[in-house]
Amino acid sequence: MAISKLTLDSEVKYLKGVGPRRAETLAARSIRTIEDLLYYTPFRYEDRKRLARVRDLLPGQTATILVKVLTCGLMRTRNGIYIYDLAAADASSLEPGKLIRCKWFNAIYLERNEVFHPGQRVFFYGKVERDRYGTSNLVMMQPKFEILPESGESETESLEVGRITPIYEAIGNLSPAVLRRLMWTALTIMNGNVPECLPESVLRKNRLPSRAEALRQTHFPEENRSLEKLTQFRTPEQVRLIFEEFFNVGVALALKRRQFKWLPGIQLQITDNVRQAIKRILPFHPTAAQKRVLKEIADDMTSPHPMSRLLQGDVGSGKTIVALQAAIIAIENGYQVALMAPTEILATQHYLYCKQLLAALPYEVGLLVGGRSTKERATLKKRLAEGSVQLVVGTHALIEPDVEFARLALVIVDEQHRFGVMQRYELIRKGRAPHVLVMTATPIPRTYALAAYGDLDFSVIDELPPHRVPIVTRAYAERDRAQAFDFIRRKVQSGEQAYVVYPLIEESQKLDLKPAVRMFEHLSRNVFPEFRVGLLHGRLPANEKESVMRRFRAGEIQILVSTTVVEVGVDVPNATVMLIEHAEHFGLAQLHQLRGRIGRGAGKSYCLLLAGESRTEAADERLRILTQTQDGFKIAEMDLKLRGPGEFLGTRQWGVPAFRIANLLRDHEILEWARREAMEFVERPESSQELAAFTRSLRAHWPERYRLARVG
Ligand code: ADP
Ligand code: MG
Repeated sequence: MAISKLTLDSEVKYLKGVGPRRAETLAARSIRTIEDLLYYTPFRYEDRKRLARVRDLLPGQTATILVKVLTCGLMRTRNGIYIYDLAAADASSLEPGKLIRCKWFNAIYLERNEVFHPGQRVFFYGKVERDRYGTSNLVMMQPKFEILPESGESETESLEVGRITPIYEAIGNLSPAVLRRLMWTALTIMNGNVPECLPESVLRKNRLPSRAEALRQTHFPEENRSLEKLTQFRTPEQVRLIFEEFFNVGVALALKRRQFKWLPGIQLQITDNVRQAIKRILPFHPTAAQKRVLKEIADDMTSPHPMSRLLQGDVGSGKTIVALQAAIIAIENGYQVALMAPTEILATQHYLYCKQLLAALPYEVGLLVGGRSTKERATLKKRLAEGSVQLVVGTHALIEPDVEFARLALVIVDEQHRFGVMQRYELIRKGRAPHVLVMTATPIPRTYALAAYGDLDFSVIDELPPHRVPIVTRAYAERDRAQAFDFIRRKVQSGEQAYVVYPLIEESQKLDLKPAVRMFEHLSRNVFPEFRVGLLHGRLPANEKESVMRRFRAGEIQILVSTTVVEVGVDVPNATVMLIEHAEHFGLAQLHQLRGRIGRGAGKSYCLLLAGESRTEAADERLRILTQTQDGFKIAEMDLKLRGPGEFLGTRQWGVPAFRIANLLRDHEILEWARREAMEFVERPESSQELAAFTRSLRAHWPERYRLARVG
């Protein structure tokens, strides 16, 4: 293929320097096109405008040098330590005694992989010290290094030296230097041929640099750029690229939202019947936050367009009763409601809770989960299709194709983060523009919420029900196990109930985890023979799960041994103690969710975190945070910080698109700004042609991300 024909959409394999092997390596990082490549930006920069000369180096100085390797090899000291020792020099140091040595402890891999050999030209970056392990007087201990490719030296040099040098994270065996060369080639070929992707009016209004300029300056900044700004990702060009990403997602979400907002919905009414019914079921006075949120929901449901709302609230803040009140509004207007939960246990729990609360009202409530018999399910489906069941609670069994509703007006999705966006959509399609209430108990930092759920309106319950006593959380070491068990014994003797949670159900080869089943037997026979101990895990048949839950709720089971299936939604106020085994293996968010099962009544609750002896520092930090705070939003923020920006786990967990350049921790202000601009652009476009053209190109160029937002 002729070079001049390359476009951003061309596959990287057509780029000079990328053969099939490299193309494969890049593809493993989702880099398939030239565009993908150019959006793989440096993660830091080094000021190599001025390289230090070896002759001028002083102890204590941190420097970058470009030198030629003279000798190298693995040595063994008298006390048996392996040291990889390398001597090098530059033009300034070709006099005896003016070499620089570089040393690495135990770096057998350098020898084995034949990383260095004499004659190579290498950058070393590090701190200069006096050598305590040899003859030469200056040394860099474990310096960062970069070996220059042997071919094309003169050209290469201009990318490496005498400039602010971009540092890329290596991709497989593609070193920063190789990536730098590829970027340079791509930018040179694409010169003048990088089409703008942001709307002209948005560029103008926000005074953003062009895309071509942004890419060029981000990869190879001009000399006068500030290293500090570059490092913080705050040069105008870097900001433009971050803005671009947020803007694209923002427009996709805004379009989705507009589509929803314009749809004719089911306009319901708050009648006296609704008010009466709600009054009859409420077992307590709602908190001010619950009232406010219910008002927001009621306003949506009585408007001519469908509601599409995210209800956030920390665990235990009382989201369920609010959802149930919304359900009553729909049912009293003659419609049906579907409540979907991620696990059978949670669905069952909601079902029992709803049945109990709604007992005073003449509603038919159904439970649809996979674990029920085919016959039971068939009967329920028939009654749903006829419209004689008003409220159905279920798992994803609800979205099976043969589930039909006669008059579905409200879809409630609990613990949304556990479902794919597609599943939410599938359920919504079973009605004609039903109202949608999405609930999540994993508090999401605002930036993440905006990026993942920007198409929804937000409501927050930011207040816990009254008389909640803070949970006491303590970390125990394995050797204090007996003490923890004694504590449980005393609590259960005085009439309270306890959870004992295990991470896994089956014995795992890799981790030394005590399986719940074996521990259940041990606890019930040897440790707590005087108590009624129950076992709950995901693989129990549905009716058994239901019966265990019911018995625990009724107090017949005093100690419930369980896997993490109790993590979401389970609500038994008399359970005041939770022992979490192998707490070091859980993430912060999950521990917080688990702990949320207790502290639900008026009694004081205790969470005992039992941790094994071999823990990482990060695990210790997690446990420490848990013992200090109970604020879910704080914990979510800490979680993000601990995971670090490179960690996409949290991202996936919340359904946030995987950004290429933007970083939600670092870039929240740019997100707010880009989102505002995106809303404005969609809702009040300067030119409808511009909006239409942008939408088309967004669709064509960003299929995966766009689809993600589209079905939201
Ligand atoms: P979550 O928000 O975690 O889903 P739930 O809806 O399960 O919380 O509510 C937690 C517990 O608090 C339940 O036992 C519920 O009955 C109780 N609760 C909810 N709202 C109130 C209130 N306003 N006053 C007293 N108890 C409440
Ligand atoms: Mg809940």
